Amino acid sequence: MVDSVEKGQQIQWTDSISVPDFPIIPYIEGDGIGSDITPAMLKVVNHAVSKAYGDKRAIEWKEIFAGQKAFDLTGEWLPQDTIDAIEKYHVAIKGPLTTPVGGGIRSLNVALRQKLGLFICQRPVQYFEGVPSPMMHPEKVDITVFRENSEDIYIGIEFKAGDTETKRLLETLKNQYAVDNIARPENTGVGVKLISEHASKRLVRQALQYAISQEKEHVALVHKGNIMKYTEGAFCHWGYDVAVEEFAAKKVEWGYEIENPNNGQKILVTDVIADACFQQVLLKPENFDVIATMNLNGDYLSDALAAQIGGIGIAPGANLSDRDALFEATHGTAPLYAGKNLANPSSLILSAEMMLRHMGWSEAADKLIQGMRLSLKAKEVTQDFARHMEGVEGLSTSDFAQAICRHMR
Ligand code: NAD
Repeated sequence: MVDSVEKGQQIQWTDSISVPDFPIIPYIEGDGIGSDITPAMLKVVNHAVSKAYGDKRAIEWKEIFAGQKAFDLTGEWLPQDTIDAIEKYHVAIKGPLTTPVGGGIRSLNVALRQKLGLFICQRPVQYFEGVPSPMMHPEKVDITVFRENSEDIYIGIEFKAGDTETKRLLETLKNQYAVDNIARPENTGVGVKLISEHASKRLVRQALQYAISQEKEHVALVHKGNIMKYTEGAFCHWGYDVAVEEFAAKKVEWGYEIENPNNGQKILVTDVIADACFQQVLLKPENFDVIATMNLNGDYLSDALAAQIGGIGIAPGANLSDRDALFEATHGTAPLYAGKNLANPSSLILSAEMMLRHMGWSEAADKLIQGMRLSLKAKEVTQDFARHMEGVEGLSTSDFAQAICRHMR
């Protein structure tokens, strides 16, 4: 690992990303198992880059701080320097962060997404042969979720039951807006759900562009608009508007159809009610390619989908704006395993694979995936997978990283 920033250069962004041969990439180690999985990820990425490009390219890693490590060093959970560094270098990667209890911050992850304007959470969910799964045919799961990251109830506008303000708000709703089904305003909490045209459209726009660039056949807008018409329902309408106005979509029986300008294939854009979607991704996962949805639906759906392919330990994620990208392990800090060299680093390693593709370093990304696929196929896995596999002894975090490197050809 190169930690000193010597010959490294900044990734630039004008109309698109421009990556030098020795880019400086900031990383946040993360709390709990962060100190186990982040060194494993750095080792695997460095090896993949070196296998792909020899000494012509290398990443110069720059550690930045958030969470407990930041608090111990600076007295702040999320220092401004960390936000500035991600904005400056455009691409960064992070381990999981503890949510400080009783602090002023609800969640460091949410704070990072909001401060950096990372409005998309992209979660590709695909199966790797050899990974234990509760599904009979987990190989049929290959779905990328585009979850809106900036609004919905995650924006955190909440009013506590019993507070004077809350009672006043509920009385106003009752009297001024004739909301007549608030049975007990004196002990009812309130959460505000915000869904805007702007945020819905930019999310769906990115999902459609992804479907075009990755030659996918189906984009599903997932919502609960049958119940929440002006938020979830509006998201669906605005999504279709983007398809029609910006991608020349034509009405067909089940939704709309876009012609992919790259290959002439049709992309079907449909909408699916959220509860039905949870059933269908279990029964017919092969019918789904790309899902675009709001924050809360996306939160539930991406973890449920991850379970279908072996769990959040192997599901990667990226938080994106038009310019900046923060790749992250999708699981938490797993305090039970912290510092024991036992945790599964796959989620963070596969997030790094997304990062390499985002940078246009697809040869290194391919090496990384090859190493991961062959390790898993050879049953060289960490203990969380091994305990569901007969006769398989689990590897430590570092030995698993070593196995991935060994399997890169
Ligand atoms: P968690 O993801 O840490 O753990 C859930 C379960 O999965 C536990 O049984 C854990 O041992 C297991 N697990 C998770 N990652 C694993 C891995 N890589 N290898 C093996 N097993 C793994 O969720 P939690 O317990 O709800 O949360 C713990 C802390 O993490 C909380 O402070 C929470 O706020 C935080 N958190 C952070 C993020 C993030 O940084 N993106 C996400 C979720 C939770």
